[in-house]
Amino acid sequence: MVELENIKFSYRASEFRLNIPHLSLENRKRLAIVGPSGSGKTTLLNLIAGILKPESGRIEVSGTEVSKLSDAGRRRFRASQIGFVFQDFALLDYLSARQNILYPYRITPALTLDKEAQERAKSLAIACGIDDKLDRHPTALSQGEQQRVAICRALVTQPKLVLSDESTGNLDPDSKVRILDLLFEQAEAAGAAVLAVTHDHELLPRFERVLD
Ligand code: ADP
Ligand code: MG
Repeated sequence: MVELENIKFSYRASEFRLNIPHLSLENRKRLAIVGPSGSGKTTLLNLIAGILKPESGRIEVSGTEVSKLSDAGRRRFRASQIGFVFQDFALLDYLSARQNILYPYRITPALTLDKEAQERAKSLAIACGIDDKLDRHPTALSQGEQQRVAICRALVTQPKLVLSDESTGNLDPDSKVRILDLLFEQAEAAGAAVLAVTHDHELLPRFERVLD
């Protein structure tokens, strides 16, 4: 599903260097990557998602060599193949929960907001226990509810890869575990692999494989 080979990356404006000789994730598996703050976890996810481009090396996701695509190509690829759950949820306040879940369809010409997509949004919301809150805006939702909306949005396009960036970071310990289980459950139902970065060691037993 994901394969990285000899990846080197640096930002223009900082001394930080990311070096990844090899990393791989198989279909339908759950991999956690742990590391302290500032170690490059978000950078890694952004490379895999094609938001950033490596200086050298190969990144392959789902049979496509992402690191070879143009900027527009990587955007299209990301929209159709990857679900991203961001650390800060990244919901849009001017949109309702339902509109946030369906947001990928607004910004991606290649995706059609058809009846199936709407039904998928609805059943994800039911599975996540927020179906009675779909008309609310994020400001009227608790953090845990916002996180559920973000999970629904990451899965609604049926991606084969879900990336999660410390997405339980702002939650209390009970909610953390519940939300992570929910993400796994939904990913599994959809046949998606999950790659999650975290600095939360408590959550690690829930993954099949952990990398430091
Ligand atoms: P983590 O997610 O593990 O906390 P990051 O990937 O966000 O780490 O950051 C890794 C390093 O890269 C940090 O030293 C950070 O300051 C630096 N960094 C992150 N984003 C940028 C950027 N856009 N420009 C310059 N430096 C950055
Ligand atoms: Mg980070």
